[in-house]
Amino acid sequence: MTITSGEKGASQRDERGPAQAGHGLTPAPPKPPESAQDAAHRLGNDASPSDVPHTPAPALELRGVVKTYGGEPAVAGIDLTVPTGSFYGLVGPNGAGKTTTLSMISGLLRPDRGEIAVFGADVRADPRAAKRLMGVLPDRLRTFDRLTGRQLLHYVGSLRGLKTTTIRERSDELDDAFDLGPALGRAVSDCSTGMTKKLLLACAMLHAPRLLVLDEPFESVDPVSSQKVLDVLQTYVDGGGTVVLSGHSMALIETMCSRISVLVTGQVLAEGTVDEVRGEMTLEQRFIDLSGGGDEGGALEWLHTSSS
Ligand code: ATP
Repeated sequence: MTITSGEKGASQRDERGPAQAGHGLTPAPPKPPESAQDAAHRLGNDASPSDVPHTPAPALELRGVVKTYGGEPAVAGIDLTVPTGSFYGLVGPNGAGKTTTLSMISGLLRPDRGEIAVFGADVRADPRAAKRLMGVLPDRLRTFDRLTGRQLLHYVGSLRGLKTTTIRERSDELDDAFDLGPALGRAVSDCSTGMTKKLLLACAMLHAPRLLVLDEPFESVDPVSSQKVLDVLQTYVDGGGTVVLSGHSMALIETMCSRISVLVTGQVLAEGTVDEVRGEMTLEQRFIDLSGGGDEGGALEWLHTSSS
């Protein structure tokens, strides 16, 4: 895998307000990474353009990534490439290894083997560079739940090096976009699951990352809020951001994602555009097919037997 040097523009981007970006609440209308060719021109390098390959790093690259728990492989050597600007879906049955994969990408878990790079920054060798470029919605919503929503946003923004005024302005815009409502003034522990999810999604976007890594962002979120979240994410991608998410709703994945990967027992069984993966079937049928599901198998027959 080609792992290039970390991103230079990340710290400047952090202070770029959504309004400046020209997309209403588009937390990150990121510029594509500077190519070697552009850099050579900017630096007055006298190599001719044709000498320098035009190969910007993809948003995300995994090569040979393995994670085992007690000798059992949860992720069994996967390769993935997520192009910049894509809306990428990671789907698979329960226990397929989606959360484990996303946790390794976001640096919450360390792979046993393999390499992960975010816009060319190696997650293990240069975690600060990689984490600066990413916003993460983790599994299970663990957070500092004695803080109110607004305090949590302030805390997260401060850790990301944002000014107080910037945090306040962005928090207000994220409130409008996600309809955070009571979550801002209430202790996070007292928020509903869906509200907490929207609040943590806002936290993930606050520093205007170039890549969003979202573990089941629509789980427990009502349909109206889901549509709001979708609109924000779509605007973010239209502005050049990249989203990688996991989910179980094939209808949502089919509508939103430009590329998907089907993970089953820790292995990638299919990868490509939605059309490539589903072929002649619906995505749901293809998913069931790849997951080895659909076997009725006469299960729980005792349940159908009336007892007197
Ligand atoms: P779901 O759709 O149910 O959220 P998933 O695809 O996200 O599932 P993972 O949570 O990544 O799946 O789990 C992959 C495998 O690793 C499962 O067999 C799970 O039981 C196992 N696993 C995950 N975390 C641990 C852990 N901390 N210790 C032991 N085994 C684990």
